[in-house]
Amino acid sequence: MSVQFDRIALIGIGLIGSSLAYDIRRLGLAKEIVVATRSADTLKRAEELGLGDRYTTSSAEAVRDADLIIVSVPVGASESVAKEIAGSLKPGAIVTDVGSTKASVIAQMQPHMPDNVHFIPGHPLAGTEKSGPDAGFPGLFEGRWCIFTPVAGTDETALKRLRGFWEALGSKVDEMDAEHHDKVLAIVSHLPHIIAYNIVGTADDLETVTESEVIKYSASGFRDFTRLAASDPTMWRDVCLHNRDAILEMLARFSEDLAYLQRAIRWGEGDKIFELFTRTRTIRRSIIQAGQDVDAPDFGRPHALDKK
Ligand code: NAP
Repeated sequence: MSVQFDRIALIGIGLIGSSLAYDIRRLGLAKEIVVATRSADTLKRAEELGLGDRYTTSSAEAVRDADLIIVSVPVGASESVAKEIAGSLKPGAIVTDVGSTKASVIAQMQPHMPDNVHFIPGHPLAGTEKSGPDAGFPGLFEGRWCIFTPVAGTDETALKRLRGFWEALGSKVDEMDAEHHDKVLAIVSHLPHIIAYNIVGTADDLETVTESEVIKYSASGFRDFTRLAASDPTMWRDVCLHNRDAILEMLARFSEDLAYLQRAIRWGEGDKIFELFTRTRTIRRSIIQAGQDVDAPDFGRPHALDKK
């Protein structure tokens, strides 16, 4: 793989920033990686892990002379980062981000971007429930989608360069407008997390079932929700606050459909319940066929008598 950028600045070095650092190094995509994060502790850890060539707690210093700047911070911090780096960006530089919501990130960052840089919002659909620099690993983006939500008038050459970068990481790149992205992500990612946080919270609040019973018998379904509900609270608080409209729209739809199911259960309407559960099974099959998950039972978890 050829060097694509002389200097890449990574602003934020948690799960996503550190995974980018590993792959940029592994694939030789930059001559130099500059790592910036706001706290001295995280910066020290990034240095111990050898994620960059230079380290700083100043985002402004990090972006100086960088050709590609990737902002990987909680979406609610986008504006403060944009303000901090704006005056130090090199003319012609590409500034992108990885935030899980897009209209809000554009509203926060674009007004601060100088005319002579290329601001291209992006979102890799790849991650785990872990956070911080220790959570990152090489290959996170391999085979996953990265969605760009370019603003009007985006330079085609810059777009092509950024596309080439994500493709070098093994990602498939798609483009759509920010509002559409936010709706799609509200249903495929944000709502499932909110439901998981809610169901785990409900179990925690129950008085008739003890916490030790919830934990002891968790394998029968509950456990799969706890993975999502263990996701980073800061990141997910920001997603909720910054994709408010789309999330509220999907939650309203969800509540209506839940009321339908609740009614079918109350009135013993087995045919309605069966029809819904049959339809949803087909979606799971389509996801496996599209290569978005493996067809192993129980998500491939090992079982006691599995062959060694
Ligand atoms: P993370 O592991 O929690 O790391 C967050 C990074 O942002 C750290 O370097 C942290 O710095 C910095 N940061 C936190 N608050 C900040 C603030 N107020 N101002 C400036 N910097 C701040 O997060 P992540 O999982 O990598 O997520 C980063 C972004 O990627 C988010 O926008 C998220 O929506 C998006 N994303 C996440 C996933 C996922 O599965 N996790 C997937 C796709 C996209 P310190 O540690 O020094 O405070």
